[in-house]
Amino acid sequence: QVKRSGKNGYRFFAPELNTRHQGRIAIENDLRVALKLGQLELHYQPQVSLSQRRVVGVEALLRWNHPDDGLISPAIFIPIAEELGLIGEISRWVLEQACAQLAAWQKRGHDNVKMSLNLAAYDFDRGDIVAEVTDCIARHGLPPGQITLEITEHMMMQDTPGVTAKVRRLREAGVGIAIDDFGTGYSALAYLQKLPISALKIDRSFVKDLGGLMTNPIISAIIGIARGFDLDLIAEGVEHAQQAAMLRALGCDVMQGYYFARPVQADDAEALFSMPPRSVSG
Ligand code: C2E
Ligand code: MG
Ligand code: MG
Ligand code: MG
Repeated sequence: QVKRSGKNGYRFFAPELNTRHQGRIAIENDLRVALKLGQLELHYQPQVSLSQRRVVGVEALLRWNHPDDGLISPAIFIPIAEELGLIGEISRWVLEQACAQLAAWQKRGHDNVKMSLNLAAYDFDRGDIVAEVTDCIARHGLPPGQITLEITEHMMMQDTPGVTAKVRRLREAGVGIAIDDFGTGYSALAYLQKLPISALKIDRSFVKDLGGLMTNPIISAIIGIARGFDLDLIAEGVEHAQQAAMLRALGCDVMQGYYFARPVQADDAEALFSMPPRSVSG
């Protein structure tokens, strides 16, 4: 759905933007303006521990609040921002915003909630991501262990120069590293031996197919890997009580998905910190 259109750069055709007479927009200009005018916002999706019966973390998810087109998904504009070289600016904004928000929550007593945020492949290929992250965390007076950076398995496989070293330095600084969408990357598992990551996120495609003959063994295997490497484990995309119950039966405790909460604005997320999450029976 994203199309390249000659020297004007990127134009894009997506249902979200296919509004009224205006079938396309110049995304590059609009994205630059979005950054300047503060049209980007972070929403926060709770991560729930069933055994602790509380929200143990949130994932910061970026939205572009476009004046004409409403909220635009990062799945649409992040890849374009990467190609346009705007991802550094966006990631720095996300990092700053997420750290500031976590610090504000901690000041109000919510000091047992962690923050996860997503980085793009190119973040490991530009500037010094290690310094950016550790400086930002320090500036906000946060314990580094309260921040987890989510990177996809796909990014690990691209073999970006130095990515292993950067991940190691971030871990040495105490920052968490989670492999997002785990199990979808056609990967050799060898990188798990080399990268000192701290968490795995079971991709929602597996959660969706739970109960299927071929899916439960995969989830069990992922849970086994997490245990073997002593990694935190989060299942994402949990939409139904039954999925949560099956995941728990397989040995997964922390979950994220519409069943528990959608990504919401900061205040709404905070309200969920003091409420027990929806129950899971069976
Ligand atoms: P992700 O990191 O795997 O994030 C999970 C996505 O699944 C989010 O989509 C979330 O809204 C959605 N989701 C959560 N629970 C459910 C559920 O129960 N069912 C279904 N169907 N979906 C669920 P979102 O917010 O549209 O983000 C899409 C992707 O964009 C993210 O996937 C992440 O890769 C990327 N992204 C989001 N925010 C950022 C950011 O700040 N920086 C970068 N570089 N990438 C980001
Ligand atoms: Mg993520
Ligand atoms: Mg994911
Ligand atoms: Mg995903």
